[in-house]
Amino acid sequence: MKAKKVVPFILILQIIAMQAIQAQTNCRASEANATYIKKHISSQNEYHDFNYQTKKIQGKGGSESYQIPVVFHVYGTSFNGKTVDDELIHKALNDLNKDFHGMNDDFFSIDSRFSNITGTMDITFRLARIDPNGNATTGIIYHAEKNGYGHGSDSDTQISADAWDNYRYMNVYIQNDLYGNNETNNTGVAWYPFTHMSDNNLARVVYNGAFLATNTDTEQASILTHEFGHWLNLIHTFEGGCDGTDEVDDTPNENGLHDLNCSSGTNCNGEYVNTENYMGYNGSSGCYKMFTEGQVDRMFAALQHPARVTLWQTQNLIDTGLIISEAENVAPVVTIDTSMDNFSFEEGETFELKTTVTDANGSDDIQKVEYYVDGNLLDILRFLPFENEFPNLETGQHIIRVMAYDYGGLSNTMEITITVIPRINYPEIKWISSNISFAENSIQFATGEATRRLEIKAITDTHDIIVKGPDFEKQYTTIIDETITIDNIAKGTWTVEIPSLNKKITKTLN
Ligand SMILES: [Zn+2]
Repeated sequence: MKAKKVVPFILILQIIAMQAIQAQTNCRASEANATYIKKHISSQNEYHDFNYQTKKIQGKGGSESYQIPVVFHVYGTSFNGKTVDDELIHKALNDLNKDFHGMNDDFFSIDSRFSNITGTMDITFRLARIDPNGNATTGIIYHAEKNGYGHGSDSDTQISADAWDNYRYMNVYIQNDLYGNNETNNTGVAWYPFTHMSDNNLARVVYNGAFLATNTDTEQASILTHEFGHWLNLIHTFEGGCDGTDEVDDTPNENGLHDLNCSSGTNCNGEYVNTENYMGYNGSSGCYKMFTEGQVDRMFAALQHPARVTLWQTQNLIDTGLIISEAENVAPVVTIDTSMDNFSFEEGETFELKTTVTDANGSDDIQKVEYYVDGNLLDILRFLPFENEFPNLETGQHIIRVMAYDYGGLSNTMEITITVIPRINYPEIKWISSNISFAENSIQFATGEATRRLEIKAITDTHDIIVKGPDFEKQYTTIIDETITIDNIAKGTWTVEIPSLNKKITKTLN
């Protein structure tokens, strides 16, 4: 009895511990920005003026496509025991871009209360390929371990010294201990657009490498999307609690307790909380899925802010290497597994195609990959992985073409031929009675003690069937819809063999 009473107590302790860890991993953007504008009166005025401007700009975005050159500064080699390398950062940016485009895997499972106000944005954050000195770069700079760049002012001199020109590059700093206080479980912090920050090369997202891409789970990794949202002037959806505002009309208020996690629940006004919103905290527990239309309008407006507007101008995209001059540009290379060429499979099976698309100018210079079947456009993919499925292809030969485009407009293509053959109809074999059954390939047995009957039924085709058992061996030629029945079969091992289909099943009747 005593032991049984202990169990719920341990469970409660575990739940409290989980909540405590989650609370500590939350971002401190609200506090950091409040501290900042308190200190810089010009920024405070700019912030309020721009909020006013934003409401006038709202609704005017949405049609344009944006690119932002990004530089990642990585400090140290261990992030709670995890590493951060080029590949991980490529994946993190790829996933983040999918979130902004509404191409995240869980986008189509958004709560129906909010699916009609989801907002997506054609913005792609890409690693810079030319550094401030005009040299080639991967857009990822590795530094010795340093911490504390999440602080408002303590590290300003160092941050500024490491920064690349804020009017040309978005700067992301990857550290482990964001506030230099020996806490390594804070996820990230970011600042809204401020001219004063960009003037002093202090504009930034600071993020914990332990929560990047596959260093954590998918939902926690989307906290990077949350921080980029702040960088585009988004405020927490729970700012100020029930009486506060995030300056966006379509996001319901939240009480700021973040205790709903991914369950549905109402706020203090009785409205449902948008727990799946990237700018709340609830979603990090497993359901970060969406921005709202209002938030996207606010981000489009932020792109017009003096501290952001220079970044996406065509000349800057050329200067940072995101757009390559025609003379230097190289077309992407499309590779399809050649074993897939002349591949044939049965009607009704799904053909999966894996392609590799690379670009000599840099792995991320792929704008889109188009998939054609017999000349008809089937699908367009914009982000890794470049894999596609071709379900329900008709019998016969098909030409699959994959065409990849880079941002400079160059394209390359590769084709393969596949053949869909008619479906093979296997005979159905049943070992009748009782409720024990098993399936092996397309052939089924059911067996039991009651009648000990073996039943073999050819559904649509004719095959020779050899049946063997204890003191029993017989060859049958079944025709369509004819059933072979053997009653009172002896206990022991039985085999049913269809040589023409290379099928053999063995079962023991005990
Ligand atoms: Zn935040």
